[in-house]
Amino acid sequence: MRHTRQTVHPSAAGIPMRPSLLAASLAIVLASSVLPAGAVEPPLPQLEAYTVRESWRQPIAPVRIADRTWQIGTAGLTALLVVTDDGAVLIDAGMPQAADALLANMARLEIAPADLRLLLSSHAHADHAGPFAALKRRTGAHLVANAESAALFARGGTDDLHFGDDIAYPPVQTDRIVMDHEVVSLGGIDFKVHFVPGHTPGSVALTWADTREGRPVRIAYVDSLSAPGYRLQGNPRYPRLVEDYRRTFQTVRSLPCDLLLTPHPEASGWDYAAGDAAAAQALTCAAYADGAETRFEAQLAEAQATSR
Ligand SMILES: [Zn+2]
Repeated sequence: MRHTRQTVHPSAAGIPMRPSLLAASLAIVLASSVLPAGAVEPPLPQLEAYTVRESWRQPIAPVRIADRTWQIGTAGLTALLVVTDDGAVLIDAGMPQAADALLANMARLEIAPADLRLLLSSHAHADHAGPFAALKRRTGAHLVANAESAALFARGGTDDLHFGDDIAYPPVQTDRIVMDHEVVSLGGIDFKVHFVPGHTPGSVALTWADTREGRPVRIAYVDSLSAPGYRLQGNPRYPRLVEDYRRTFQTVRSLPCDLLLTPHPEASGWDYAAGDAAAAQALTCAAYADGAETRFEAQLAEAQATSR
């Protein structure tokens, strides 16, 4: 949901140019259409990596969500491992550098690399899909996604509608394309795919049935509903963005949802580091959609006001 870039640009470092030097520079520019080599132009900026807050990079021990469902990602990014009778499914994986930590947490749960059969995804951004290429190589798991996400996976997140080439990750090929309401099954567990376009055109929610303390629990893993810095109106790359978000809020309200989880845990009230109290503040799907809708409509109203 949030894509925080903590960067310091050379221009922000505050190195003022002396007026006499400035005048001389301008004279050179005016006197000649060819710039003297290296004399006037500042160097090109350094390449910038995608830097994020520490909690997104902080490994934690597996957190049990339900009998077969575990959070094995970091303190601040969700990666759900669902252990079936025929191998395991990983839903989201976090940042590109997370592969080793995920495999270590799988080992703690006695899941060998070869036991990982399927990779599923909420959306194809670097902070959730980053290690998929590495995990496919190291486990043989198959990546399952819809066509929109498959296209972004294949580009490694480049040419993003909103972020351009700023947030890239190792490209990865999708092995199976799924449609809206298609079911992906493994070892007796059925994962239903619900398209919730908005945050990305390929965003999905996934629902499945688990048990906890002897009772059935319907888990909904619902994608980010935020629009961080997005151009909402008249976006030539996404003309029906507003309609998609509004339909998605309705879809999320109607999901089977005894227990809601989200790619960014705090968005649904989770605190994975809180042990037994991890879900103490967890939201319902309806509350999650309501809050996101209020924020989206406020962001849209502000965009409309400033464009007038
Ligand atoms: Zn995202």
